[in-house]
Amino acid sequence: MMFDIRGKVVLVTGAASGIGAATARLAHERGAFVVATDIDGPAIQDFAASSLCVGLTHDVTDPDDWDHAIGAAVHHFGRLDALVSNAGIVNYEPIIDLDLARFRALTRVHVEGSFIGMQKAVAQMRQQADGKPATGSIILTASVMANCAAPAISAYAVAKSAMANMARAVGVELGRKGDMIRVNAICPGPTRTPLLEGALPAGAMDDPAHWTDVPLGAAQEPEDIAEGILFMISDESSFMTATQMVVDGGWSLT
Ligand code: NAD
Repeated sequence: MMFDIRGKVVLVTGAASGIGAATARLAHERGAFVVATDIDGPAIQDFAASSLCVGLTHDVTDPDDWDHAIGAAVHHFGRLDALVSNAGIVNYEPIIDLDLARFRALTRVHVEGSFIGMQKAVAQMRQQADGKPATGSIILTASVMANCAAPAISAYAVAKSAMANMARAVGVELGRKGDMIRVNAICPGPTRTPLLEGALPAGAMDDPAHWTDVPLGAAQEPEDIAEGILFMISDESSFMTATQMVVDGGWSLT
């Protein structure tokens, strides 16, 4: 086994679909205890039943829902070792058309959702440490859009750069306070999920001509991102904090 996550208690948000579903499934298959959550109640119940993990309806913008989700991890498995703050939505509107309410709704899911989740996860990790330095790993699913740009994606770019820098800031803060809670961002490039599929012309996902800007020549699979997340959960990444892992087939350098 490359990255050992056996026995770790992992909470994954946005786990009914795409990158979150791949992360929750692979984490479970590799021996972690998984609480998989999503705002889409029926989808997360179906997913949890098929993946043998605990599934919860959870809107990441709601602090009470976060208490419930972290409480479920403690109730079922006794603790929380890792949070993967992954839930997300996208918006492809030019700045001039982007209504303030939609801008706020998008940044709320990504930025406020991750903020509330981190606050509550850190509190739980400290509480269970029983006076010793707290341990844990928090991963925010940002995007290559944290560091580069494209047309008609300003709200998403704002949200993703905020997530990536929040991971840096909180990682530095927790380390300086003597915790061993690591905080990192993962920055995926174009990944085969419903979120991206909905924005592409029909057939583009599997058309190599659409991906000539990606040095590796294709959209990546959700599992490619999940493997990076599992590494950041594992103790094999024990000195990695306050940074970003880019998984994009080289796309952001072209
Ligand atoms: P997806 O649409 O397949 O999955 C996102 C999930 O988040 C859905 O199941 C959805 O129901 C859930 N969700 C949305 N709002 C929520 C809320 N308020 N509370 C809880 N759950 C909520 O998309 P994906 O591509 O797997 O996206 C996962 C993450 O990866 C997102 O943060 C996205 O921005 C990021 N990302 C995706 C790509 C890509 O190309 N697919 C690239 C970079 C980053």
